[in-house]
Amino acid sequence: MLSARAQKIKPSPTLAIDSRAKAMKASGVDVINFGVGEPDFDTPDNIKEAACKAIRDGFTKYTPVGGIDPLKDAIIKKFHVDNGITYQREEIIVSCGAKHSLYNVAQALYGPGDEVIIPSPYWVSYPDQVLLNDAKPVFVQTLEKDSFMLKPEALEAAITDRTKSLILNSPSNPTGMLYDKKTLEKIAELAVRHNFYVISDEIYEKLVYGNAAHISIASLHDEIKARTIVINGLSKSHAMTGWRLGYAAGPADVIKAMTNIQSQSTSNPTSVTQKAAVEALNGPQDFVSVMRSEFDRRRTFIVRGLNTILGMHCMAPNGAFYVFPHTASIYGSRFHNKTVASSTDFALYLLEEAKVALVPGDAFGDDNYLRISYATSLEDIRKGIERIRQAVQNLMPAT
Ligand code: PMP
Ligand code: GLU
Repeated sequence: MLSARAQKIKPSPTLAIDSRAKAMKASGVDVINFGVGEPDFDTPDNIKEAACKAIRDGFTKYTPVGGIDPLKDAIIKKFHVDNGITYQREEIIVSCGAKHSLYNVAQALYGPGDEVIIPSPYWVSYPDQVLLNDAKPVFVQTLEKDSFMLKPEALEAAITDRTKSLILNSPSNPTGMLYDKKTLEKIAELAVRHNFYVISDEIYEKLVYGNAAHISIASLHDEIKARTIVINGLSKSHAMTGWRLGYAAGPADVIKAMTNIQSQSTSNPTSVTQKAAVEALNGPQDFVSVMRSEFDRRRTFIVRGLNTILGMHCMAPNGAFYVFPHTASIYGSRFHNKTVASSTDFALYLLEEAKVALVPGDAFGDDNYLRISYATSLEDIRKGIERIRQAVQNLMPAT
Protein backbone atom coordinates (compact mmCIF):
# COMPACT_ATOMS: atom_id res chain seq x y z
CA MET A 1 0.00 0.00 0.00
CA LEU A 2 1.41 3.39 -1.00
CA SER A 3 1.59 6.23 1.50
CA ALA A 4 -1.30 8.69 1.70
CA ARG A 5 1.24 11.30 0.56
CA ALA A 6 2.16 9.42 -2.61
CA GLN A 7 -1.50 8.93 -3.43
CA LYS A 8 -2.11 12.70 -3.37
CA ILE A 9 0.46 13.37 -6.09
CA LYS A 10 0.22 13.29 -9.87
CA PRO A 11 3.17 13.26 -12.30
CA SER A 12 4.30 16.64 -13.66
CA PRO A 13 1.94 17.20 -16.64
CA THR A 14 4.49 19.31 -18.51
CA LEU A 15 7.09 16.56 -18.35
CA ALA A 16 4.45 13.94 -19.23
CA ILE A 17 3.45 15.78 -22.41
CA ASP A 18 7.08 16.29 -23.35
CA SER A 19 7.77 12.55 -22.99
CA ARG A 20 4.76 11.72 -25.13
CA ALA A 21 5.75 14.21 -27.86
CA LYS A 22 9.37 13.00 -27.85
CA ALA A 23 8.22 9.36 -28.04
CA MET A 24 5.94 10.18 -31.02
CA LYS A 25 8.85 11.94 -32.70
CA ALA A 26 11.17 8.98 -32.05
CA SER A 27 8.65 6.65 -33.70
CA GLY A 28 8.73 8.77 -36.85
CA VAL A 29 5.69 11.03 -36.33
CA ASP A 30 6.29 14.65 -37.37
CA VAL A 31 5.24 16.34 -34.12
CA ILE A 32 5.66 20.05 -33.40
CA ASN A 33 6.57 20.20 -29.73
CA PHE A 34 5.19 23.30 -28.03
CA GLY A 35 4.89 21.25 -24.86
CA VAL A 36 7.83 21.71 -22.60
CA GLY A 37 9.52 24.82 -21.31
CA GLU A 38 13.05 24.07 -22.41
CA PRO A 39 15.27 26.41 -24.48
CA ASP A 40 16.07 24.86 -27.86
CA PHE A 41 19.55 26.47 -27.67
CA ASP A 42 22.59 24.39 -26.83
CA THR A 43 24.52 25.14 -23.63
CA PRO A 44 27.31 27.62 -24.55
CA ASP A 45 30.74 26.09 -25.26
CA ASN A 46 32.59 27.97 -22.50
CA ILE A 47 30.24 26.36 -19.95
CA LYS A 48 30.68 22.89 -21.45
CA GLU A 49 34.45 23.37 -21.47
CA ALA A 50 34.43 24.29 -17.76
CA ALA A 51 32.66 21.00 -17.06
CA CYS A 52 35.11 19.01 -19.21
CA LYS A 53 38.01 20.65 -17.40
CA ALA A 54 36.45 19.77 -14.04
CA ILE A 55 36.32 16.12 -15.12
CA ARG A 56 39.90 16.18 -16.43
CA ASP A 57 41.06 17.81 -13.17
CA GLY A 58 39.38 15.06 -11.16
CA PHE A 59 36.81 17.37 -9.58
CA THR A 60 34.53 14.37 -9.28
CA LYS A 61 34.05 13.86 -5.54
CA TYR A 62 31.46 14.94 -2.98
CA THR A 63 31.38 18.68 -2.38
CA PRO A 64 29.84 20.61 0.53
CA VAL A 65 26.10 19.81 0.54
CA GLY A 66 24.87 23.34 -0.23
CA GLY A 67 27.42 24.05 -2.96
CA ILE A 68 31.08 25.04 -3.32
CA ASP A 69 32.15 28.48 -2.12
CA PRO A 70 33.20 29.80 -5.57
CA LEU A 71 29.68 29.04 -6.82
CA LYS A 72 28.01 30.59 -3.79
CA ASP A 73 30.20 33.66 -4.36
CA ALA A 74 29.19 33.81 -8.04
CA ILE A 75 25.54 33.63 -6.99
CA ILE A 76 26.05 36.35 -4.36
CA LYS A 77 27.65 38.54 -7.06
CA LYS A 78 24.72 37.85 -9.41
CA PHE A 79 22.21 38.97 -6.77
CA HIS A 80 24.24 42.09 -6.07
CA VAL A 81 24.69 43.10 -9.71
CA ASP A 82 21.32 42.03 -11.16
CA ASN A 83 18.95 42.57 -8.25
CA GLY A 84 20.72 44.97 -5.88
CA ILE A 85 20.45 42.48 -2.99
CA THR A 86 23.29 41.58 -0.62
CA TYR A 87 23.53 38.01 0.69
CA GLN A 88 26.15 36.11 2.69
CA ARG A 89 27.22 32.52 1.96
CA GLU A 90 25.05 31.12 4.74
CA GLU A 91 22.02 32.65 3.00
CA ILE A 92 22.59 30.65 -0.22
CA ILE A 93 21.96 26.99 -1.12
CA VAL A 94 22.69 25.33 -4.45
CA SER A 95 20.38 22.44 -5.38
CA CYS A 96 19.75 19.99 -8.23
CA GLY A 97 17.53 22.39 -10.20
CA ALA A 98 15.19 25.19 -9.13
CA LYS A 99 12.52 22.53 -8.68
CA HIS A 100 14.71 20.92 -6.04
CA SER A 101 15.27 24.26 -4.28
CA LEU A 102 11.48 24.78 -4.26
CA TYR A 103 11.00 21.31 -2.87
CA ASN A 104 13.56 21.93 -0.12
CA VAL A 105 11.76 25.15 0.87
CA ALA A 106 8.44 23.32 1.01
CA GLN A 107 9.97 20.65 3.25
CA ALA A 108 11.63 23.24 5.44
CA LEU A 109 8.53 25.39 5.97
CA TYR A 110 5.27 23.45 5.60
CA GLY A 111 3.38 21.03 7.74
CA PRO A 112 -0.18 19.95 8.55
CA GLY A 113 -2.55 22.93 8.96
CA ASP A 114 -0.36 25.37 7.02
CA GLU A 115 -1.85 27.25 4.10
CA VAL A 116 0.15 28.29 1.08
CA ILE A 117 -1.31 30.92 -1.23
CA ILE A 118 -0.78 30.20 -4.91
CA PRO A 119 -1.98 32.69 -7.54
CA SER A 120 -3.67 30.81 -10.37
CA PRO A 121 -2.78 30.11 -13.17
CA TYR A 122 0.31 28.62 -11.51
CA TRP A 123 3.28 26.51 -12.48
CA VAL A 124 2.36 22.83 -12.22
CA SER A 125 4.67 21.75 -9.40
CA TYR A 126 3.67 24.33 -6.78
CA PRO A 127 0.44 22.70 -5.53
CA ASP A 128 1.87 19.19 -5.54
CA GLN A 129 4.91 20.24 -3.54
CA VAL A 130 2.60 21.80 -0.95
CA LEU A 131 0.49 18.62 -0.83
CA LEU A 132 3.61 16.48 -0.51
CA ASN A 133 4.27 18.30 2.74
CA ASP A 134 0.74 17.85 4.12
CA ALA A 135 -0.09 21.55 3.80
CA LYS A 136 -3.01 23.12 1.93
CA PRO A 137 -2.72 25.05 -1.34
CA VAL A 138 -5.04 28.09 -1.36
CA PHE A 139 -5.62 29.29 -4.91
CA VAL A 140 -6.33 32.90 -5.76
CA GLN A 141 -7.64 33.33 -9.29
CA THR A 142 -5.98 36.03 -11.41
CA LEU A 143 -7.55 37.37 -14.59
CA GLU A 144 -6.37 38.13 -18.09
CA LYS A 145 -7.86 41.63 -17.85
CA ASP A 146 -5.38 42.29 -15.00
CA SER A 147 -2.57 40.72 -17.08
CA PHE A 148 -2.85 37.74 -14.68
CA MET A 149 -1.26 39.77 -11.90
CA LEU A 150 -2.30 38.98 -8.35
CA LYS A 151 -4.40 41.86 -6.99
CA PRO A 152 -3.35 42.83 -3.46
CA GLU A 153 -7.06 42.96 -2.42
CA ALA A 154 -7.55 39.37 -3.59
CA LEU A 155 -4.42 38.33 -1.72
CA GLU A 156 -5.59 40.06 1.43
CA ALA A 157 -8.93 38.25 1.26
CA ALA A 158 -7.15 34.88 1.14
CA ILE A 159 -4.87 35.49 4.15
CA THR A 160 -5.73 33.64 7.37
CA ASP A 161 -3.80 33.07 10.58
CA ARG A 162 -2.64 29.79 9.02
CA THR A 163 -1.05 31.44 5.98
CA LYS A 164 2.55 30.27 5.90
CA SER A 165 3.65 31.60 2.55
CA LEU A 166 2.79 33.01 -0.83
CA ILE A 167 4.36 31.65 -4.01
CA LEU A 168 5.12 34.38 -6.54
CA ASN A 169 6.45 33.64 -10.00
CA SER A 170 7.63 36.58 -12.06
CA PRO A 171 8.03 36.37 -15.02
CA SER A 172 5.31 33.78 -14.88
CA ASN A 173 5.02 30.28 -16.24
CA PRO A 174 2.43 29.83 -17.86
CA THR A 175 1.23 33.39 -18.62
CA GLY A 176 4.51 35.26 -19.25
CA MET A 177 3.26 38.06 -16.97
CA LEU A 178 5.73 40.25 -15.09
CA TYR A 179 4.91 41.94 -11.77
CA ASP A 180 5.28 45.71 -11.55
CA LYS A 181 6.93 47.49 -8.65
CA LYS A 182 3.75 49.03 -7.24
CA THR A 183 2.02 45.66 -6.97
CA LEU A 184 5.11 44.05 -5.44
CA GLU A 185 5.26 46.83 -2.84
CA LYS A 186 1.65 46.19 -1.82
CA ILE A 187 2.22 42.44 -1.65
CA ALA A 188 5.36 43.01 0.44
CA GLU A 189 3.41 45.23 2.81
CA LEU A 190 0.84 42.45 3.34
CA ALA A 191 3.55 39.81 3.87
CA VAL A 192 5.23 41.95 6.51
CA ARG A 193 1.96 42.92 8.23
CA HIS A 194 0.67 39.33 8.36
CA ASN A 195 4.11 37.83 8.83
CA PHE A 196 4.23 35.16 6.14
CA TYR A 197 7.02 34.06 3.81
CA VAL A 198 7.19 34.88 0.11
CA ILE A 199 8.68 32.25 -2.16
CA SER A 200 9.75 34.24 -5.20
CA ASP A 201 10.48 32.02 -8.19
CA GLU A 202 12.54 34.19 -10.54
CA ILE A 203 13.85 31.52 -12.90
CA TYR A 204 12.74 33.48 -15.99
CA GLU A 205 14.26 36.78 -14.88
CA LYS A 206 16.63 37.00 -17.87
CA LEU A 207 13.79 36.56 -20.33
CA VAL A 208 12.06 39.92 -20.22
CA TYR A 209 11.05 41.87 -23.34
CA GLY A 210 10.45 45.43 -24.47
CA ASN A 211 10.61 48.10 -21.79
CA ALA A 212 9.64 45.72 -18.99
CA ALA A 213 12.12 45.24 -16.13
CA HIS A 214 12.32 42.37 -13.67
CA ILE A 215 12.20 43.37 -10.01
CA SER A 216 12.88 40.96 -7.18
CA ILE A 217 10.48 41.50 -4.29
CA ALA A 218 13.39 40.81 -1.92
CA SER A 219 15.13 43.96 -3.19
CA LEU A 220 12.37 46.30 -1.95
CA HIS A 221 13.46 46.58 1.70
CA ASP A 222 15.02 44.63 4.57
CA GLU A 223 11.72 43.63 6.16
CA ILE A 224 10.51 41.79 3.05
CA LYS A 225 14.00 40.41 2.33
CA ALA A 226 13.88 38.77 5.79
CA ARG A 227 10.71 36.91 4.75
CA THR A 228 11.59 36.06 1.14
CA ILE A 229 13.21 32.98 -0.30
CA VAL A 230 14.30 33.77 -3.86
CA ILE A 231 14.50 30.80 -6.21
CA ASN A 232 16.51 30.89 -9.40
CA GLY A 233 18.57 28.60 -11.61
CA LEU A 234 20.46 28.13 -14.85
CA SER A 235 18.00 25.90 -16.77
CA LYS A 236 16.40 28.77 -18.65
CA SER A 237 18.98 31.58 -18.55
CA HIS A 238 21.87 29.45 -19.81
CA ALA A 239 20.04 26.61 -21.60
CA MET A 240 21.11 24.10 -18.95
CA THR A 241 17.94 22.11 -18.21
CA GLY A 242 19.68 18.74 -18.16
CA TRP A 243 22.55 19.84 -15.91
CA ARG A 244 20.21 20.28 -12.93
CA LEU A 245 21.38 23.42 -11.21
CA GLY A 246 19.18 25.75 -9.20
CA TYR A 247 19.65 27.85 -6.11
CA ALA A 248 17.84 29.68 -3.34
CA ALA A 249 18.66 32.75 -1.26
CA GLY A 250 16.94 33.67 1.97
CA PRO A 251 17.13 33.91 5.75
CA ALA A 252 20.01 31.85 7.16
CA ASP A 253 17.77 29.68 9.38
CA VAL A 254 15.59 28.62 6.44
CA ILE A 255 18.62 27.99 4.21
CA LYS A 256 20.23 25.92 6.98
CA ALA A 257 17.08 23.78 7.29
CA MET A 258 16.99 23.33 3.52
CA THR A 259 20.65 22.29 3.55
CA ASN A 260 20.01 19.74 6.30
CA ILE A 261 17.13 18.30 4.26
CA GLN A 262 19.33 18.19 1.15
CA SER A 263 22.08 16.49 3.17
CA GLN A 264 19.63 13.65 3.94
CA SER A 265 18.32 13.32 0.40
CA THR A 266 20.50 14.18 -2.62
CA SER A 267 23.67 15.53 -0.93
CA ASN A 268 25.48 18.05 -3.14
CA PRO A 269 24.44 18.94 -6.70
CA THR A 270 26.79 17.27 -9.23
CA SER A 271 30.35 18.51 -8.69
CA VAL A 272 31.04 18.95 -12.41
CA THR A 273 27.80 20.91 -12.92
CA GLN A 274 28.80 23.26 -10.13
CA LYS A 275 32.05 24.12 -11.95
CA ALA A 276 30.05 24.69 -15.14
CA ALA A 277 27.70 26.95 -13.17
CA VAL A 278 30.58 29.10 -11.92
CA GLU A 279 31.55 29.70 -15.55
CA ALA A 280 27.92 30.32 -16.55
CA LEU A 281 27.58 33.06 -13.92
CA ASN A 282 31.07 34.58 -14.07
CA GLY A 283 31.87 34.11 -17.78
CA PRO A 284 30.66 36.13 -20.79
CA GLN A 285 26.91 36.77 -20.83
CA ASP A 286 26.40 37.64 -24.54
CA PHE A 287 24.68 34.28 -25.08
CA VAL A 288 21.82 35.36 -22.81
CA SER A 289 21.01 38.46 -24.87
CA VAL A 290 21.29 36.56 -28.17
CA MET A 291 18.82 33.97 -26.86
CA ARG A 292 16.50 36.66 -25.50
CA SER A 293 16.43 38.55 -28.85
CA GLU A 294 15.53 35.35 -30.65
CA PHE A 295 12.75 34.56 -28.16
CA ASP A 296 11.46 38.11 -28.58
CA ARG A 297 11.20 37.63 -32.38
CA ARG A 298 9.30 34.38 -31.87
CA ARG A 299 7.04 35.96 -29.26
CA THR A 300 5.92 38.70 -31.66
CA PHE A 301 5.40 36.16 -34.43
CA ILE A 302 3.41 33.66 -32.38
CA VAL A 303 1.15 36.23 -30.70
CA ARG A 304 0.29 37.73 -34.09
CA GLY A 305 -0.32 34.28 -35.62
CA LEU A 306 -2.52 32.96 -32.82
CA ASN A 307 -4.64 36.11 -32.82
CA THR A 308 -5.60 35.39 -36.45
CA ILE A 309 -7.11 31.99 -35.53
CA LEU A 310 -10.87 32.13 -35.16
CA GLY A 311 -11.97 31.52 -31.57
CA MET A 312 -8.56 32.25 -30.01
CA HIS A 313 -7.10 35.36 -28.52
CA CYS A 314 -3.69 35.77 -27.03
CA MET A 315 -2.24 38.38 -24.71
CA ALA A 316 1.29 39.56 -25.58
CA PRO A 317 3.38 38.45 -22.59
CA ASN A 318 6.41 40.45 -21.49
CA GLY A 319 8.48 37.63 -20.04
CA ALA A 320 9.44 33.92 -20.13
CA PHE A 321 8.86 31.89 -23.33
CA TYR A 322 5.21 30.96 -23.10
CA VAL A 323 1.98 32.27 -24.54
CA PHE A 324 -1.33 31.46 -22.93
CA PRO A 325 -4.07 31.85 -25.55
CA HIS A 326 -7.72 31.90 -24.52
CA THR A 327 -9.40 28.93 -26.18
CA ALA A 328 -12.68 28.47 -24.27
CA SER A 329 -14.72 29.89 -27.19
CA ILE A 330 -13.78 26.76 -29.13
CA TYR A 331 -15.08 24.36 -26.46
CA GLY A 332 -18.36 22.71 -27.32
CA SER A 333 -17.37 22.23 -30.97
CA ARG A 334 -17.13 18.74 -32.38
CA PHE A 335 -14.87 16.53 -34.42
CA HIS A 336 -16.62 13.45 -35.79
CA ASN A 337 -18.66 12.27 -32.82
CA LYS A 338 -16.45 13.75 -30.15
CA THR A 339 -17.02 17.05 -28.40
CA VAL A 340 -14.07 19.23 -27.51
CA ALA A 341 -15.32 20.18 -24.07
CA SER A 342 -12.21 21.31 -22.21
CA SER A 343 -8.58 22.36 -22.55
CA THR A 344 -7.54 18.72 -22.11
CA ASP A 345 -9.87 17.60 -24.93
CA PHE A 346 -8.58 20.39 -27.13
CA ALA A 347 -4.91 19.62 -26.41
CA LEU A 348 -5.53 15.92 -27.14
CA TYR A 349 -7.35 16.78 -30.35
CA LEU A 350 -4.44 18.98 -31.46
CA LEU A 351 -1.94 16.26 -30.63
CA GLU A 352 -3.82 13.50 -32.41
CA GLU A 353 -5.21 15.37 -35.41
CA ALA A 354 -2.69 18.18 -35.94
CA LYS A 355 0.40 16.58 -34.39
CA VAL A 356 0.99 19.64 -32.21
CA ALA A 357 1.93 19.03 -28.57
CA LEU A 358 0.98 21.67 -26.02
CA VAL A 359 -0.22 21.75 -22.43
CA PRO A 360 -3.89 22.20 -21.46
CA GLY A 361 -4.57 25.22 -19.24
CA ASP A 362 -6.21 22.88 -16.76
CA ALA A 363 -2.74 21.69 -15.70
CA PHE A 364 -2.05 25.27 -14.56
CA GLY A 365 -5.44 25.73 -12.90
CA ASP A 366 -7.30 27.48 -15.73
CA ASP A 367 -9.28 25.39 -18.19
CA ASN A 368 -10.06 28.37 -20.44
CA TYR A 369 -6.55 28.46 -21.90
CA LEU A 370 -3.75 26.44 -23.48
CA ARG A 371 -0.06 26.92 -22.83
CA ILE A 372 2.31 27.08 -25.77
CA SER A 373 6.06 27.13 -25.28
CA TYR A 374 7.74 29.05 -28.08
CA ALA A 375 11.20 27.80 -27.12
CA THR A 376 11.36 26.15 -30.52
CA SER A 377 12.42 27.28 -34.01
CA LEU A 378 10.54 29.99 -35.92
CA GLU A 379 10.02 27.44 -38.68
CA ASP A 380 8.28 25.05 -36.25
CA ILE A 381 6.22 27.92 -34.85
CA ARG A 382 5.08 28.85 -38.36
CA LYS A 383 4.16 25.23 -39.12
CA GLY A 384 2.51 24.73 -35.72
CA ILE A 385 0.29 27.80 -36.08
CA GLU A 386 -0.88 26.66 -39.52
CA ARG A 387 -1.62 23.17 -38.18
CA ILE A 388 -3.64 24.60 -35.31
CA ARG A 389 -5.50 26.92 -37.69
CA GLN A 390 -6.39 23.99 -39.96
CA ALA A 391 -7.42 21.80 -37.02
CA VAL A 392 -9.71 24.54 -35.66
CA GLN A 393 -11.26 24.95 -39.12
CA ASN A 394 -11.97 21.19 -39.20
CA LEU A 395 -14.08 21.43 -36.06
CA MET A 396 -17.86 21.58 -36.33
CA PRO A 397 -19.07 24.64 -34.40
CA ALA A 398 -21.13 24.12 -31.23
CA THR A 399 -24.83 24.04 -32.04
N1 PMP B 1 10.03 27.23 -11.74
C1 PMP B 1 9.37 27.43 -12.88
C2 PMP B 1 8.37 28.53 -12.94
C3 PMP B 1 9.61 26.62 -13.99
O1 PMP B 1 8.94 26.83 -15.13
C4 PMP B 1 10.53 25.56 -13.88
C5 PMP B 1 10.68 24.61 -15.02
N2 PMP B 1 11.87 24.55 -15.54
C6 PMP B 1 11.22 25.40 -12.67
C7 PMP B 1 10.94 26.25 -11.61
C8 PMP B 1 12.21 24.31 -12.45
O2 PMP B 1 13.37 24.47 -13.20
P1 PMP B 1 14.64 23.54 -13.01
O3 PMP B 1 14.32 22.54 -11.98
O4 PMP B 1 14.93 22.96 -14.36
O5 PMP B 1 15.75 24.46 -12.57
N1 GLU C 1 9.23 24.09 -16.22
C1 GLU C 1 9.16 23.53 -17.53
C2 GLU C 1 7.73 23.56 -18.03
O1 GLU C 1 6.88 24.11 -17.38
C3 GLU C 1 9.78 22.17 -17.55
C4 GLU C 1 8.92 21.02 -17.10
C5 GLU C 1 8.91 20.80 -15.62
O2 GLU C 1 9.94 21.02 -14.98
O3 GLU C 1 7.86 20.41 -15.14
O4 GLU C 1 7.47 23.07 -19.09
